[in-house]
Amino acid sequence: MSFESLGLAPALLRALAEQGYTAPTPIQAAAIPPALEGRDLLAGAQTGTGKTAAFSLPLLEHLYVARRKPTQPKRPRALVLTPTRELAAQIHENVRAYGKHLGVRATTIFGGVGINPQIDALRRGVDILIATPGRLLDHLQQRSVDLSHIEMLVLDEADRMLDMGFLPSIKRILGHLPRQNRITWLFSATFAPEIKALAGEFMRDPVEIQIAKPNSVATTVTHRVHPVDADKKRDLLLHLLENDGRQTLVFGRTKHGADKLAKMLEKSGLKAAAIHGNKSQNQRTRALADFKSGRINVLVATDIAARGLDIDQLPMVINHDLPMVAEDYVHRIGRTGRAGAEGLAISLVSHEEEGLLRDIRRLLKQEIEVVPVTGFEPSRPLRADGTAKPVQNQRPQRHARRPHVGSGNGEPNPEARKKPRRRRVRNKQPRPA
Ligand code: AMP
Repeated sequence: MSFESLGLAPALLRALAEQGYTAPTPIQAAAIPPALEGRDLLAGAQTGTGKTAAFSLPLLEHLYVARRKPTQPKRPRALVLTPTRELAAQIHENVRAYGKHLGVRATTIFGGVGINPQIDALRRGVDILIATPGRLLDHLQQRSVDLSHIEMLVLDEADRMLDMGFLPSIKRILGHLPRQNRITWLFSATFAPEIKALAGEFMRDPVEIQIAKPNSVATTVTHRVHPVDADKKRDLLLHLLENDGRQTLVFGRTKHGADKLAKMLEKSGLKAAAIHGNKSQNQRTRALADFKSGRINVLVATDIAARGLDIDQLPMVINHDLPMVAEDYVHRIGRTGRAGAEGLAISLVSHEEEGLLRDIRRLLKQEIEVVPVTGFEPSRPLRADGTAKPVQNQRPQRHARRPHVGSGNGEPNPEARKKPRRRRVRNKQPRPA
């Protein structure tokens, strides 16, 4: 499926091409068509699946197609509610990027920053409000915002909002919105009974969509660990790439490390480039386009840049370093073995990374074959190769959660609520600093 086939305006398609998006993610492919038809949505999707575009694109399309006439009041027509200000800022950034050729105005309303610039922005006129509930209620109280013209409401991360005790605020906000002719899209990782009940109160016959949680990897991927001393990893990477002409996505842990690896590979005669958060969008787009077209054979990435990368038929992923969070392994490996194609996922693991490897095996609930490479055998064998207990006999352990920053200004701080619980594990190895 392509973005063109979804029937989006050319100005939106142009912005998507500039973002380097080539095809819709599963949540986008499932949500955009009914959203464009004006249906309410109950969409099960998590951050990292492309859900921001899944609601922002139809929202922008709708505002663009039904453009405001110059005589109409400049009140907001779309409201996106999110639990944290970081998320609000991130959505704003995306909306700005997708809508840059449309002339649609968006602004954020959240706590922890001065209220006056927000009041000024509201006075000047805005189409899309992206808000956290607390500050939006402040504006409602002092009548600096009028929500009576809202045509579209998005509740993002609805499960987290409910979990964080926002329900009374959300209900109060809902009381300020028009009931008739409003489209409502609710995005949530899970559909707990409270969410269904909430949805039933203010949605009209919503279309239900559920995108699988990416906590499992395709069976078409072969996983392999090459144990190696940390200081021999680069040589082993070069050895593997020189002996295998396949297109390969290499993951490093840091931006600096990714740059150094790409330079080393280039010096050795391989066609390589790095892609990470410090590169400009142009550089990122070009590197990705070159990789997709085969002009370069090796792309060295960090996790940040790799999120959402959609590369057709990528045969091999190499982890030069294991990710600090086990779920990122699944995201990384998810870049290969797509659409039924065979994929190979190789991880270079030094003994300092044994704890990370153990977390990954627990998350996947599967062993990963450990295969030393002749000439690169480690000075200390990995405990994982044979001496560790089989995974299925161990107690399940919660893996570390991605840290989440709270929104401040009296809004609940999810970090305080969800401290990662660590259980005691036998044969515990020291984790790398
Ligand atoms: P989200 O789940 O909205 O946080 O998106 C996760 C990441 O995927 C973001 O970096 C987006 O820029 C990226 N992304 C969203 N949609 C696509 C797409 N269709 N193709 C490539 N990347 C995408």
